[in-house]
Amino acid sequence: MKLNGYYQKLPGSYLFSTIGNKVKAFQDENPEVELIRLGIGDVTLPIAPAIIKALHEAVDEMGNGSTFHGYAPDLGYSFLRETIAQEDYQKRNCPIEADEIFISDGAKSDCGNIQELFATDAKIAVCDPVYPVYVDSNVMAGRAGEYDPVSGTWSNVIYLPCVRENNFIPELPKERPDLIYLCNPNNPTGTTLTKEQLKVWVDYAKAKEAVILYDAAYEAYITDPDVPHSIYEVDGARSCAVEFRSFSKNAGFTGVRLGFTVIPKEITSKEGSLHDMWARRHGTKYNGAPYIQQKAGLAVYSEEGRREVGEQVSYYMRNARAIYEGLTEAGYEAVGGINSPYVWLHTGTLTSWEFFDQLLTKAYVVGTPGSGFGPSGEHYFRLTGFGTYENTVRAVERMKRLKRL
Ligand code: PLP
Repeated sequence: MKLNGYYQKLPGSYLFSTIGNKVKAFQDENPEVELIRLGIGDVTLPIAPAIIKALHEAVDEMGNGSTFHGYAPDLGYSFLRETIAQEDYQKRNCPIEADEIFISDGAKSDCGNIQELFATDAKIAVCDPVYPVYVDSNVMAGRAGEYDPVSGTWSNVIYLPCVRENNFIPELPKERPDLIYLCNPNNPTGTTLTKEQLKVWVDYAKAKEAVILYDAAYEAYITDPDVPHSIYEVDGARSCAVEFRSFSKNAGFTGVRLGFTVIPKEITSKEGSLHDMWARRHGTKYNGAPYIQQKAGLAVYSEEGRREVGEQVSYYMRNARAIYEGLTEAGYEAVGGINSPYVWLHTGTLTSWEFFDQLLTKAYVVGTPGSGFGPSGEHYFRLTGFGTYENTVRAVERMKRLKRL
């Protein structure tokens, strides 16, 4: 075989597999222990009734010759693209049209695939810590350079540290990147950029002719009026920013699979238009998100759907707040939990993995070591509000006791 050698450059296994293995080993040795899992960022509430109803109706349509749907349009059904354009963008005064929205099976694939539209020598900048898909997908494409296991960094990646010293706000890099990944609200820190702070990045990208790849997967969790729900709320973003959205965290579609990417037609260079290239890519490599899922996505925007998914988001946010407040009260240093389901805490003198082991073996709580999200995540730890309220409160009590030990 002649393999893509860049895959071999990826260090270790994916963060969550390592966590899974450690948790399994501990549980096998201690079967009587009841673990509380606040680690992985998966939702736990069932799909809301208005969406289940839409799913059932769409399934029934598929069983009837007159309403059956075959291949979906590869860019998405216009009923969904138009609703998104209107509800998520035009109502927020963002100048986005339906034909700039590309429906997909989720934000992960789009975040991972978008890099193939850019040259192999395009330089990427990422917040550190951040969702690992941005860096790993560029490693696979041969864009990241060499990995240094001591510093945990790639030679060809520009890291933008987001740490307590800079209040988790990335600073503009000294070296010019071609692509800038921003995740707002950020996974894993749960921190955000305000519209004013984001404007700095939009102006910078325009001045440097860079493209911002903006991941707004947690948009539904924003409560602060200063934090934009879309990058297109910032003037000038149409010519420099791509936005990723997901139905996973707002409507519980992690297992249903649906998302979309917005590429304004204005993002062009001498060589062509990003919008047209992505359309071409979809046409060649993707046969469209399933009709059933897209009907379910449409139901998210119905009156009942909105109310129901809003209640789910509030439920998770109550958990996140309980974690944030409980841990802060107990003397942990924490951020997040206000515009995000994630709480990010400092582990003091322990490394992230030492803290993980301590929490697992002494408090029986599973979280995510911050170092898995990038070198600046070392000495931090992520907990999520996606558990049940009861378990969340119990986990916080256990962590309070651990602090007193
Ligand atoms: N983007 C971020 C920042 C995420 O944290 C996640 C999932 O955890 C995703 C994208 C993936 O979204 P999807 O389920 O739509 O693929």
